[in-house]
Amino acid sequence: MIVDVQNIHLTYQAPDGEVNALEAINFSITQGEFVSLVGPSGCGKSTLLSIIAGLIPPTQGQVLVEGQTVTAPSQKIGYMPQKDQLFPWRTIWDNVTLGLELRHQATAENKDRVRDLLERYGLADFANKTPNQLSGGMRQRCALIRTLALSPSILLLDEPFSALDYQTRLAVSADIHHIIANEGKTALLVTHDISESVSLSERVLVLSRRPAHIQSSYTLDELQGITPLARRDHPSFGTYFNAIWKELDVHA
Ligand code: ADP
Ligand code: MG
Repeated sequence: MIVDVQNIHLTYQAPDGEVNALEAINFSITQGEFVSLVGPSGCGKSTLLSIIAGLIPPTQGQVLVEGQTVTAPSQKIGYMPQKDQLFPWRTIWDNVTLGLELRHQATAENKDRVRDLLERYGLADFANKTPNQLSGGMRQRCALIRTLALSPSILLLDEPFSALDYQTRLAVSADIHHIIANEGKTALLVTHDISESVSLSERVLVLSRRPAHIQSSYTLDELQGITPLARRDHPSFGTYFNAIWKELDVHA
């Protein structure tokens, strides 16, 4: 297991009382697997990613990454937030190499690797542009490359496509899926979009309302090895979609 989430509980201490966000979350992810977490808004999805990323300590339980307890952020984990958070005044090149600079790892070898990523994913000609000269989809790819620049083995993606319009979102999510598979990464994607989870992942975990626990888990066996766009036309797509929709507690 590359990620092992063991009996995670989290209670926030807010001024007006306690907020019980996560309750007894248990799951694990194997090397190279693409797992999605879906759940109602406010159920604790981002909280769970922050705990796995080592940004907040759980109230109870532990997360193991490659067998070691997570106590702080580590370079093994790349975290891609909902907003791309590219700096508008820095060029694309300066944005994607920022993490390397901050960690004093801007070696010739690492910079070559980033140049190669930009090349392979269609951004090389934009290296000297600024983020506002790029489309929303290109910015998302750029944010992913910035995350990949530090060579994490695990990617945590928090609703990375939600700021994009529907058409762009389909294209960019397929793109990003391809990049992640190509680079041999393990991914955990948070989304509130069932179609997105069924088109991208090998397994979908459904979280309950707050305090979140894992309500059910779907292994998308019938869709393995099929590209995200082709999955949407596959007969099993609707079956999985409906099953997850019924589990997801968003109904009045
Ligand atoms: P999701 O990502 O699923 O929408 P979050 O993990 O962001 O949900 O939040 C889960 C719950 O915890 C929400 O009710 C939210 O208001 C609450 N919450 C999030 N962060 C804090 C915090 N720092 N202090 C207190 N409550 C918080
Ligand atoms: Mg969230």
